[in-house]
Amino acid sequence: MNPITNRLKKCGIISINSFRGVEAFMMYTLKCPSCGRVFDPIGVNYLCRECGMLLEYIYEYEKIDFNFKNLKDRGIWRYEKVFPKIQKRVTLGEGKTPLKVAEDLAKKVGMKFLFLKDETLNPTNSFRDRAAALMVSQALDYGYNKIVCASNGNLGASIAAYCAKAHIYATIIVPKATHIGKLAQMFIYNAKVIEKGETLDDSLIFIEKILREGKIYNATAEHNSLTLEGQKTISFEIVEEIDVPDWVLVPMGSGGTIYSIWKGFTELKKLGIVKELPRMIGVQAEGCSPIVKAFFNEKNDKYYEKEASTQALAILVRNPANSFLALKAIRESNGLAVAVSDEEIMSAEKLLARTEGLFAEPASASTIAALSKLLNEGTLGNDERVVCLITASGLKAPYVLEAIIRRGKRIGFRKNVSVKLQVLKLLDIGVSYGYEIWKALGKDITIQAVYQHLNELEDKNLIKSVWKGRRKYYQLTEKGKQVLNLLETLILLF
Ligand SMILES: [Zn+2]
Repeated sequence: MNPITNRLKKCGIISINSFRGVEAFMMYTLKCPSCGRVFDPIGVNYLCRECGMLLEYIYEYEKIDFNFKNLKDRGIWRYEKVFPKIQKRVTLGEGKTPLKVAEDLAKKVGMKFLFLKDETLNPTNSFRDRAAALMVSQALDYGYNKIVCASNGNLGASIAAYCAKAHIYATIIVPKATHIGKLAQMFIYNAKVIEKGETLDDSLIFIEKILREGKIYNATAEHNSLTLEGQKTISFEIVEEIDVPDWVLVPMGSGGTIYSIWKGFTELKKLGIVKELPRMIGVQAEGCSPIVKAFFNEKNDKYYEKEASTQALAILVRNPANSFLALKAIRESNGLAVAVSDEEIMSAEKLLARTEGLFAEPASASTIAALSKLLNEGTLGNDERVVCLITASGLKAPYVLEAIIRRGKRIGFRKNVSVKLQVLKLLDIGVSYGYEIWKALGKDITIQAVYQHLNELEDKNLIKSVWKGRRKYYQLTEKGKQVLNLLETLILLF
């Protein structure tokens, strides 16, 4: 028996009989992008045993016969020659998303060649489907029937959908502030959802506890190298359509996404398909921009945000696990890191929707906001070819509220929505009681009406009350905070 086959069998990770292409392991290794150590691609431990960094698949590129003209499959599977071996494909039709020529938006911001890689058209409306397809497929190959994933929302929704298709169990760990649309996706796909912590950083810590409970596949982006493999296909598709652009703008949360896109371009160069490489621009929200801060501080690759907030929840990560990788992509490509304010993000989101008909989640719109900024500064030339990555659909965030507003228009309770919004805002500042709230509202409604609103908000679990002595105090619930955030987003948008 060949030594690798033997080792695989000893590890008990896979059944050799069910895994015909064992020799394919000889074509690639897992390498630490930080310390350079190389590991055999056996099992599902994707973190460097020496420095804890996310490993990356490195292929024997010179041995791979790769040419776009000879590729037959559709979507991400088209590029299977530069994937680790997958036996049991789980697919929902991910990839092959359009690269849209954004003529009107380009004109508005004052440039000539702008392309939008529209990842909202993936099966669960985000780019994460590319990664989820590979991870759930590998879990099946290795005989797992349970998957856990810590996520800000998009990957959790994707994993939930692919697990549903593969008939295996999904547990998704999400921070408390997760967009309602993404949670709805997880629930409809029948995933078990556990809310843990304020941001993704806290959810990532909790995942260790779940993994100790038994044989469970970890499909968390920050812990699984197949995330990079799935997402690098975005670059393959871009090159197949327009060759190499001058710049690619990518929103950054944990930092893995920009690196996966960069990896795709560098692999195409190693495969002899392209000669040039694009310059990468990573974008964060000003309220949470640890990678941008690290970029401008050459000596410190790691930056931790003690206090962080942004409406762009998909990129709200205080302590980004893949900051090193993001900085590597930016620096190797001679690129840039940029932070934009929430106001700039919201106005870019509106501009994107109204010029190109594309409703993106706030994190994606951050790339458009950055684009305007860089053009105004003169950092980007107006005749350069630029691609912005539109990671996920805006429908994942405020659609529930849009529905409320539509209903409001029909039966005329918009005014009540606005009173309720004011009450939520007051309670966001601090705990209060009925009379105080009535006074703060300016007394232009009756106190009975205020109590009616408070009761209705409590019935909907947006606020809760406690008796202290003879007075009933009200405070916001987590759900109330989420709804308030979404309502405020919506007001900025419309
Ligand atoms: Zn290492």
